[in-house]
Amino acid sequence: MNRQIVILGGGTGGTLTANRLRRLYPLDQVDILVVDQDDRHVYQPGLLFVPFGLTHPEDIVRPRARQLRSGVRFHRAAVDRVDIEANEVHLEDGPTVPYDVLIVATGAVLVPEETEGLTGPGWMEKVFTFYTPEGAAALEAALATFDGGRLVVNIVDMPIKCPVAPLEFAFLADWYFTERGIRDQVELVYVTPLDGAFTRPVASRELAGMLAERGVELVTEFNTGEVDGEAGRLVAYDGREVPFDLAVVVPLHGGAPYVTRSVGLGDELGFVPTDELTLQSKAAPNIFVIGDAANVPASKAGSVTHFEGETLVENVRRYLAGDPLEPGFDGHANCFIETGFHKALLIDFNYDTEPLPGHYPSPLGLPLLKESRLNHLGKLMFQWFYWHSLLPGRDIPGIGSTMPTAGKREEARA
Ligand SMILES: Cc1cc2nc3c(=O)[nH]c(=O)nc-3n(C[C@H](O)[C@H](O)[C@H](O)COP(=O)(O)OP(=O)(O)OC[C@H]3O[C@@H](n4cnc5c(N)ncnc54)[C@H](O)[C@@H]3O)c2cc1C
Repeated sequence: MNRQIVILGGGTGGTLTANRLRRLYPLDQVDILVVDQDDRHVYQPGLLFVPFGLTHPEDIVRPRARQLRSGVRFHRAAVDRVDIEANEVHLEDGPTVPYDVLIVATGAVLVPEETEGLTGPGWMEKVFTFYTPEGAAALEAALATFDGGRLVVNIVDMPIKCPVAPLEFAFLADWYFTERGIRDQVELVYVTPLDGAFTRPVASRELAGMLAERGVELVTEFNTGEVDGEAGRLVAYDGREVPFDLAVVVPLHGGAPYVTRSVGLGDELGFVPTDELTLQSKAAPNIFVIGDAANVPASKAGSVTHFEGETLVENVRRYLAGDPLEPGFDGHANCFIETGFHKALLIDFNYDTEPLPGHYPSPLGLPLLKESRLNHLGKLMFQWFYWHSLLPGRDIPGIGSTMPTAGKREEARA
């Protein structure tokens, strides 16, 4: 009988894994089933551009099944829970799905209701998030009629998807209001729980400098306890307050709720404890995890998910063949950071190496930690790569899954 591989989640990680596995195994050896609760595959990096009218939700959404190779089955249903002992997935619409290997690719969910007041009065009127298509579209309308005042960008707490996206929002807001000729009437404030603009020292210094150059005030170590939409203020647990006329909030993130309902699968936030090098879950040897659902200390980013794919598929193959797993994933992350005025910078790092200046992927490649038009074009082109190369599970020429060191300048660490 064919081995049964069940993939929970048909987003970035689930889709690219299904396609890579389908290419690896003949149809008469392995059945591959992808389960997702809806049929709208969102290109999430595009959400950043929606509030500024640079793209529209309908341009970044495609049906899920169409991204899967033939020979991969797609079932639309919400996962209710996983029974690790029985090797079965229980779906909300009834049937139980047995598996030999389970791949958890259900990402991270937003939990705005966990922050006092966030979804109360003012939500979607003067308090928004651009992390959902609906929120991004509502924010576009709000920005278009914002004629001046204090706009605050706030990360409630880490971890979040794409930790650079709120910074990009602040840079693009500076560009957007400059284009509209009202920049001098808008105060921009960036409020973060981190002790700097970003997580790693060299990049944090560069990005803080860029916020200052653009006149964006940086408020650090602010742990938001309450969002008071009526009075227009963020309140931190230590009592500090930041007033706003318009707030753009990145809510708390957690794992998919079924993870917590599945005995032994997740941690207290609903993420799945996972070996950071092999991507095998700590819950059971036949469960592997890709993307935002894993609790590995890498960024929650599509690039990370993409780079994980190679190790994950190789280790599923080794597991089914009875071979030892390969500790192949190095935490590689790679992000274009849109900085406004048709420029972007690029950062590239892994578990051990922080984002450094230089070039990617080799000394003649794209500039790292430096604004350029080339990086902006790279960011725009990435959507094409996403649908046509990354999701189909093809390797991108010249871009390996482990972090290249050739173009990086180590002396910048000092
Ligand atoms: C605003 C924004 C900007 C971003 N920009 C970038 C960027 O520039 N670069 C970058 O690399 N990354 C970026 N990201 C992050 C990137 O989109 C994610 O890290 C990536 O999509 C993670 O892939 P995933 O497969 O883990 O999760 P997802 O792609 O989110 O897929 C998870 C899937 O699981 C499904 N699911 C969840 N629960 C259930 C359930 N109970 N039953 C059935 N199905 C379920 C969901 O419907 C979803 O399809 C951005 C994200 C956001 C929000």
